[in-house]
Amino acid sequence: MITKNLNQVKENIIKACERVGRDPSEVTLLAVSKKKSKEDIMEAYNVGHRIFAENYVQELTEKIDDLPSDIEWHMIGHLQRNKVKYVAGKVAMIHSVDSLRLANEINEFSLKKGFVTEILAEVNVGEEQNKFGFAPEEVEEFAVQVSEMSGIRLTGLMTSAPYVTNPEENRLIFRKLHDLCVDINKKSIDNVIMKKLSMGMTADYVVAVEEGATHVRVGTAIFGTRS
Ligand SMILES: *Cc1c(COP(=O)(O)O)cnc(C)c1O
Repeated sequence: MITKNLNQVKENIIKACERVGRDPSEVTLLAVSKKKSKEDIMEAYNVGHRIFAENYVQELTEKIDDLPSDIEWHMIGHLQRNKVKYVAGKVAMIHSVDSLRLANEINEFSLKKGFVTEILAEVNVGEEQNKFGFAPEEVEEFAVQVSEMSGIRLTGLMTSAPYVTNPEENRLIFRKLHDLCVDINKKSIDNVIMKKLSMGMTADYVVAVEEGATHVRVGTAIFGTRS
């Protein structure tokens, strides 16, 4: 089932790219494996999938330790500062950087260890209550502050759109994240070139791809519902 689902999602991404004249190689499919077993992950791995995303630090580190080392892991869940040390250096990218204090912690840890951590700024585009992320108008200032931190590299923006049954309802959210990215790039902030847009989940990844997503985070459509 997982293999079939994975192929279906990939095909949907290709079709969405064709509709808007994008090259499918611009879109990275992150298989969101939170709360799913290592066996489930290995099923996707065994048919060639290598890029997975997790939300919870302990689950992430266990899976990193136990699963093949050529898997590329992404952190997409809320990250507390005291857990940065378990994540930075082990993932390709931290998508969910939602405060300057967290960025500072990642920077300091990365400098101490001698590597650079790639991050995205999480944006609460819909300005929903109880949701993590910067307000859109805060992102430019954050980018300026981060530009001085040599232990991190800010390469784009991430958002979690509201849960909807009709994905069209989120099109404007994705378009706003895209436009925000373009606006900030126009400011030519030193060391900040934002090319990545992490947006779109099971309910709306097709629309997100049409609106410029470079990274879609798909769990349920690949692994089935989570308990
Ligand atoms: C769980 C999760 C996803 C995947 O959600 P699905 O609806 O299962 O595709 C994507 N992004 C984030 C931040 C998540 O927490």
